Amino acid sequence: MDFLGEILTFGIDSVIFAICLKQYIYYRNAVKAIQNVELYDGPDLDNVVNNNINNKIHHVAVRGLVKPLGEPLQSINKKHVLGVIQKLSIKEHVIARTSAGFWSDQTRTMQKIFNVIPFVLKKDSFSVEVIDPLSADILDLDVISDHYEPIVPTVLDHVWGFLTGVRQRGVQTTEKMLRVDSIITIIGELSKSETKSDMLTLQSPLNGSPFYITSMSLPTLIRKLDDHRKIYRVICIICGTIGLLIGGTVMRRYWKDKEQKRIAEELRRTLEISRRQRRQRVRDTDLRTDQICVICNTNAREIILLPCGHVCICEDCSDSINNNCPICRTPIMQKAAAYII
Ligand SMILES: [Zn+2]
Ligand SMILES: [Zn+2]
Repeated sequence: MDFLGEILTFGIDSVIFAICLKQYIYYRNAVKAIQNVELYDGPDLDNVVNNNINNKIHHVAVRGLVKPLGEPLQSINKKHVLGVIQKLSIKEHVIARTSAGFWSDQTRTMQKIFNVIPFVLKKDSFSVEVIDPLSADILDLDVISDHYEPIVPTVLDHVWGFLTGVRQRGVQTTEKMLRVDSIITIIGELSKSETKSDMLTLQSPLNGSPFYITSMSLPTLIRKLDDHRKIYRVICIICGTIGLLIGGTVMRRYWKDKEQKRIAEELRRTLEISRRQRRQRVRDTDLRTDQICVICNTNAREIILLPCGHVCICEDCSDSINNNCPICRTPIMQKAAAYII
């Protein structure tokens, strides 16, 4: 393969470009979706919902305090911390041999547990119940504890790790929570509760708009998403430029090679024609029948075919005869000039 290096680089570049383009589109749509979202934290939230069609606002931001509906969850590691969402995860840190042959650090999630209790977002004048918070596209949780337990390998572990291609390094246990009384912003669909008429609910919008539960304020969230959008746009531009440069180089080399081959072929043909003409000029024209080429019936017999040894064709015709001798059909292994005196 002439362009293997370029094609490989182009392939890797295209994959990075595609991933970054997908991320860029995601963040661009996210920014577009929430930059016009209205922040409601006033006393008339109930009236605003009542005045809307179907008692529903499709996309809205609400900021308030997290309050549990019932008994809150208690942290396992810090007993005084109370929350409404708890995430417990156990991750295994390993060094694994990749398909390319070298070892790399990897993290594998062994277990992930979520505990959720019903909760509301509360401010002096309103209280909104949050439905299915785990379906949120962004769910900011506080890290309550993060513990890493290294594994000291024995000789047997080393041997086993070498054979299997996976060496254990340690286990990380993490506990995260959405704390009671923390101030958060939720962007989602606000509507009247179907079960409790005096209650408002916030949930993932049915029209596919993003659902965010974050500790950031609305302007900070927009700025953060926009920063991500800008970073991915820059990477897309860089990867796109590299792709175009590689593509351009490959095309230029391809056309150059093709042009060189065409010039070489033309030169070979011109030389062949002039060789034939020269040969024609020096040929004896007064020939007996048994001295004339059996193919063109014009020129003298000039070539010996081996291994059969027949001298039956001229040099011009020998170019087109490659398989079998025209007299005895023996496969031609070699051709040589014959000098008959
Ligand atoms: Zn001939
Ligand atoms: Zn023969």
